[in-house]
Amino acid sequence: MPLDAKIPGGPIAGKWDRHLFELKLINPANKRKYDIIVVGTGLAGGSASATLAQLGYKVKTFCIQDSPRRAHSIAAQGGINAAKNYPNDGDSIWRLFYDTIKGGDFRSREANVYRLAQISNPIIDHCVAQGIPFARDYGGLLANRSFGGAQVSRTFYARGQTGQQLLLGAYSALSRQIADGNVQMFPRREMLDLVVVNGQARGIVVRNLINGQLERHAAHAVVLCTGGYGNVFFLSTNAMASNVTAAFRTYKKGAYFANPCFTQIHPTCVPVHGAYQSKLTLMSESLRNDGRVWVPKDPDDKRPSRQIPESERDYFLEEKYPSFGNLVPRDVASRNAKEQCDMGKGVGETGLAVYLDFADAIKRDTRAVIAKKYGNLFQMYEKITGEDPYERPMRIYPAVHYTMGGLWVDYNLMSTIDGLFVMGEANFSDHGANRLGASALMQGLADGYFIIPYTVGGYLAGAQFADVTPDHAAFKETENDAQSRLDKLLAINGKRTVDDIHKELSLILWDYCNMSRTNEDLEKARNLIQQLRAEFWENVTVPGSGKDFNQSLEKAGRVADFLEFAELMVLDALARQESCGGHFNEAYQTEAHEAKRDDENFCYVAAWEFAGKEKEPHVHKEPLVFENVELSQRSYK
Ligand SMILES: Cc1cc2nc3c(=O)[nH]c(=O)nc-3n(C[C@H](O)[C@H](O)[C@H](O)COP(=O)(O)OP(=O)(O)OC[C@H]3O[C@@H](n4cnc5c(N)ncnc54)[C@H](O)[C@@H]3O)c2cc1C
Repeated sequence: MPLDAKIPGGPIAGKWDRHLFELKLINPANKRKYDIIVVGTGLAGGSASATLAQLGYKVKTFCIQDSPRRAHSIAAQGGINAAKNYPNDGDSIWRLFYDTIKGGDFRSREANVYRLAQISNPIIDHCVAQGIPFARDYGGLLANRSFGGAQVSRTFYARGQTGQQLLLGAYSALSRQIADGNVQMFPRREMLDLVVVNGQARGIVVRNLINGQLERHAAHAVVLCTGGYGNVFFLSTNAMASNVTAAFRTYKKGAYFANPCFTQIHPTCVPVHGAYQSKLTLMSESLRNDGRVWVPKDPDDKRPSRQIPESERDYFLEEKYPSFGNLVPRDVASRNAKEQCDMGKGVGETGLAVYLDFADAIKRDTRAVIAKKYGNLFQMYEKITGEDPYERPMRIYPAVHYTMGGLWVDYNLMSTIDGLFVMGEANFSDHGANRLGASALMQGLADGYFIIPYTVGGYLAGAQFADVTPDHAAFKETENDAQSRLDKLLAINGKRTVDDIHKELSLILWDYCNMSRTNEDLEKARNLIQQLRAEFWENVTVPGSGKDFNQSLEKAGRVADFLEFAELMVLDALARQESCGGHFNEAYQTEAHEAKRDDENFCYVAAWEFAGKEKEPHVHKEPLVFENVELSQRSYK
């Protein structure tokens, strides 16, 4: 199928308005005739459910957690971008658009990114109206701080808990719709598959995680908001339940998967400190507003940080990138930290860490001011490491954090399956090969509050629907498949735990498909993943039964998908013979060791189509056309 992104014509600034006018509408009284399923209750799913229900659609919403407000979005710390230009420092919609395109290393769609920048401002108004307690400056205006890849301050924040506050806003709106009977909420459900009838997404099969029952739910459209797949690496900053299952199983039903190799390794995380760890903790990028990153100049210098004089420190980001300094984008900061550690200049017991130092900021602004801005992050750091970051620098190292790849969607956020929409981190849409800090919350809320309410209506108004109920043969078949898969997992009865195999997968990906990649390593990874997948299906052990609460079974299903998906990531990385953003192939770098793109051959979105079990998937290429921004070598110097 040729990929049609359905980008509206006309000048970029008018495309969205024009599209809004051209989209078909549904009469308010008719909206209640349509059922919409929303899977996921993070910022994307929570905002979409509330807004669609408010419009009058009948919404059914599903999530894994016991409450919608425990979605992974709650963990977001640093802030949300918008081009309000409150600090009067030169920001504009155009600048946010440009920074995002450049930050993504020119691998995202201009039209989508421009729309995102336009919508960023109403998001803030909407959230303020909901009562989100954004930080304010002395005069009462909303305060802003800076994030990576920008020279203006455009990030709105609520201390280090912005995601929590925004999610509480979306959750409140959702709760109101639940109370009014417009949303039926199904917590503790895991979507196991999509039901497709006549080429249209018409429902889902879920497992009730408390009693193990499989359930069928029919609708006229399905909206996936199931988050990112960073946990393929086992250790990541994502919530434990984050997974690729819903997205991957819809991929197997015909939705294309775009740019799976575009993963983001965040530069400032608490380093790994033991073999029994199950999660990594982010130290928000906002800390780089005041924290200075450094390592000792001499690799043999093992003195405590405070005994190393200024002249013997290497502030490598400030030196190499004087314009952006410590606030270079994440891919650049991570690669540089790794490079320092590879040269033997890493600090701490493992040598896999660099310092993030607040001494100068505390001296300049006082401890009280720093505590006001970052107090909860400092407390978190101290609880984990036992070290006081007011007294000694934090030790930080890059960790898996976000995934730019996801299901391919057009301008309407619809996948290659009619009626299957994908939003938030689960889609590939706006961040290209590297996401800028504070732009994920912006995208999730743009998708949920401001885009899907219109585009889903356009689809429903123009589509024909057969009568489909959960008794339809397609539902039966999908449920049978899901049940057989669960039975198969329970019957293996091998010797290795799911976590054990997942950890081995994580090492393969971390060693061979990480911040920098080589073709040789990627080939090696592919072989190892295939072997590990075979071992999983022969030797995994899943205790308990399928008729009950069984977290081992849940995990087994997710890890089985990760084992297939990981190969797709590696394949995508192998196919993209260039470096861009988070995808750094060592064979393609500039003299200054920066990512070197090949615009002539790779200026496209790679969208993968499932071709059958153990068969090589087909790649489709959506060319990226730049009419408003000139393609150039990214520079933050
Ligand atoms: C520690 C941390 C800090 C961050 N800080 C920031 C920040 O400051 N600014 C910023 O812009 N971004 C930040 N991000 C990124 C941002 O938080 C995420 O990209 C964003 O919240 C994702 O939202 P989402 O709605 O797409 O998905 P999520 O919030 O991940 O929600 C996914 C939902 O899908 C459900 N789900 C998943 N699979 C299934 C299934 N099979 N069946 C049923 N339900 C399912 C889950 O239960 C959940 O409800 C941060 C990320 C992390 C990890």
